[in-house]
Amino acid sequence: MSVEDSVMRIQKKLTKMTSDDGSGQEQALDLLKELQKIDINLDVLTKTRIGMTVNALRKSTKDEEVISLAKTLIKNWKKFLSNTPGKDSSSSSSKSKKDKDDKGKEDKDKDKKLQNTFPPSSSNTTDSVRLKCREMLSVALNVDGEDFEGCASPEELAEELEEAIFHEFKNTDMRYKNRVRSRIANLKDAKNPTLRTNFRIGAVTAARLATMTAEEMANDEIKKIRERFMKEAINDAQLATVQGTKTEMLKCGKCKKKNCTYNQLQTRSSDEPMTTFVLCNECGNRWKFC
Ligand SMILES: [Zn+2]
Repeated sequence: MSVEDSVMRIQKKLTKMTSDDGSGQEQALDLLKELQKIDINLDVLTKTRIGMTVNALRKSTKDEEVISLAKTLIKNWKKFLSNTPGKDSSSSSSKSKKDKDDKGKEDKDKDKKLQNTFPPSSSNTTDSVRLKCREMLSVALNVDGEDFEGCASPEELAEELEEAIFHEFKNTDMRYKNRVRSRIANLKDAKNPTLRTNFRIGAVTAARLATMTAEEMANDEIKKIRERFMKEAINDAQLATVQGTKTEMLKCGKCKKKNCTYNQLQTRSSDEPMTTFVLCNECGNRWKFC
């Protein structure tokens, strides 16, 4: 089993604990301990967004041990992210940012900057548009005033993000402004804490967020509506005796009789094939196929 698969297997269980009524969290500590043993790299961290799952668990649980271990894990991952040289632009820009803050340590700054010559650091910009964008991004990131222990500050993250966007356009024209504006709108969206949290804890890097599409940033509510729609579609299908179409073409796998009712439903996006839900009117057997 690959690292990614192992992480995702644990993530699935953790997500279930968090999204249900909060019950069944007895296993959480074991799962977190398992996670702690796995050697998670930046790629896995970004792909699985496990950091966000663990953070959600931390918030939903009352178990002190779980909270403490979750915090430790997130802290370690965050540290790991900012200590991965050359992996992506966010790591180096976060360092150059600290350089700027520690104005008294110029010699040290020089050393650090030499290690991070690519992408070129531009965090010391005096461009008023860019500074304003950073300020607005920072405010958006701090919209709920939540403290993420051991993670970069909203100011640092805003700077990283602005830099990544500027790096793409190399100027502050309309496209740059639109890109910044759409990040702000999604980051400060009260209904989209997931995106904000993911970015704050480092599960989504500045480089990644800089180029995300509207759908990728879409808020939790929209995602939940999609999920609910899918669940309802399945529930509806279970009432197939009332609403469905009777057929003698389909044969029940259990009782082998040909007295079924079926419903066709679009359970995911409209470009995916319809799912057919079948109910055997003889024995009550249900199944589905695409
Ligand atoms: Zn049957």
